[in-house]
Amino acid sequence: MSPRATRLLVFAVIFTVFAGLAGFVSALLCFIPAPYLFPLAYHLSHRVAWDLTANFVSRLQCPRCAFQLPAVGVWTVGSYTDHHEQNIYNVRSPIDGKHIGWIDCPQCGSTIVL
Ligand SMILES: [Zn+2]
Repeated sequence: MSPRATRLLVFAVIFTVFAGLAGFVSALLCFIPAPYLFPLAYHLSHRVAWDLTANFVSRLQCPRCAFQLPAVGVWTVGSYTDHHEQNIYNVRSPIDGKHIGWIDCPQCGSTIVL
C-alpha cells in the first residue's frame, strides 16, 4: 500500500470515529447541532492522520523510477533545513505550519505525493 493510500485509510478510520463522536456529543448536548461539529471532526482527523501515518510508513517509493528512500531523515522545506531527523509525515513548514504535501525524487525529479 502506498504511503498516500495509508494516510487516506488512517484518515477514513479516524474520521469515522470522530464523526461518530461528534454525533454522540451533539445528541448529548442538544444545543450544539452536529453540522457544526463535523468540520471540527474533519480537521482533527486530518491532523491525527498525518501524525499516525508516520508510525506506518518507513519508506517512500517514486512512482516513476521505483527509487526508494527512507521516510526518516533531515528534510529541507524551501530554504529551511531542519536540525534533526524525523519522519517526513511529521515535518511542517516553518512558515505556515502545514505538512509537506510532496517531495521530489532525488533520482529522477518526479513528484512523490505524500
Ligand atoms: Zn524517481
